[in-house]
Amino acid sequence: MKNISVIGAGTMGNGIAHVFAQTGFTVNLIDVSAAQLERAVATITKNLDRQISKGSLTEEQKKQALNNLTTYTSLIEGVAKADLVVEAATENTELKLNIFKQIDEFAPKGCILASNTSSISITKIAAVTSRPESVIGMHFMNPVPVMKLVEIINGYATDKAVTDTIVALSKQLGKVPCVVNDYPGFIANKILMPMINEAIYSLYEGIAGVEEIDTIMKLGMAHPMGPLQLADFIGLDVCLSILHVLYNGYGNTKYAPCPLLVNMVTAGKLGVKSGEGFYTYTAGSKDLVVSKRFL
Ligand code: NAD
Repeated sequence: MKNISVIGAGTMGNGIAHVFAQTGFTVNLIDVSAAQLERAVATITKNLDRQISKGSLTEEQKKQALNNLTTYTSLIEGVAKADLVVEAATENTELKLNIFKQIDEFAPKGCILASNTSSISITKIAAVTSRPESVIGMHFMNPVPVMKLVEIINGYATDKAVTDTIVALSKQLGKVPCVVNDYPGFIANKILMPMINEAIYSLYEGIAGVEEIDTIMKLGMAHPMGPLQLADFIGLDVCLSILHVLYNGYGNTKYAPCPLLVNMVTAGKLGVKSGEGFYTYTAGSKDLVVSKRFL
């Protein structure tokens, strides 16, 4: 495997392109937006520079990684020579199904098709292609160059040889692969989102404040970040959407999203990306300030 196409040059796509390019693969980074591709290359360059300043990368390795990377606004051109496509476009079912129909048509016959989706069924994505046995979930964590885990999701039809290839490839990238089956939320979000939802319920029910809930989980459970702060980082809209996937997929009320989360998303308080969630975020400040609404 030599030639990797990454579709979507946002938060995850630029990180995925970064690790493949740094490991020596030829990387085709594809996005509908040329401006986003420019931003992605700037982000990758900045992150490679950070690795140099930490002593984990040389100037020569940075140069080589950037040489391995080509950007495309045309999906047809970008996947034409791929051995593996990793799709990391916006989390929208219709959009992803369309992208997979196109990749299936234009990527070479033996090419493996992977999705970095957080919550959409791999079996459903595979079903729109002519090669469901070659479709798999490759769920990287954010930030990709730093986080070790790759949750590998076997769709209903995924071939074992394809899983084995993706496991070996993840190890080659210096990651730790964990293989799971394709059910709502896979494993990472099936366990994480109910914890975040319970933290929000605890706040909603007045059992404790934002700082108390996060401090208890940080110091008591050795979590690097409390669940409310983590929810702000993930995006409260993303958390709500994954809870809907769990609730609808399992039909179990234990996944019902807390009304406070629903209200916050409706009010546009989405966490870090909107400047306010459980905390408020000011550009240039690293202080964690609880949102006035929760004081
Ligand atoms: P993002 O919004 O930062 O980036 C998505 C990119 O996809 C954008 O640059 C957009 O222009 C591009 N795009 C949209 N339609 C496209 C198309 N037809 N062809 C090519 N590019 C297209 O999103 P993200 O946070 O990077 O998430 C990407 C995927 O990764 C989603 O499936 C998400 O669920 C998953 N994911 C996200 C995280 C996270 O923490 N952000 C973690 C794990 C998995």
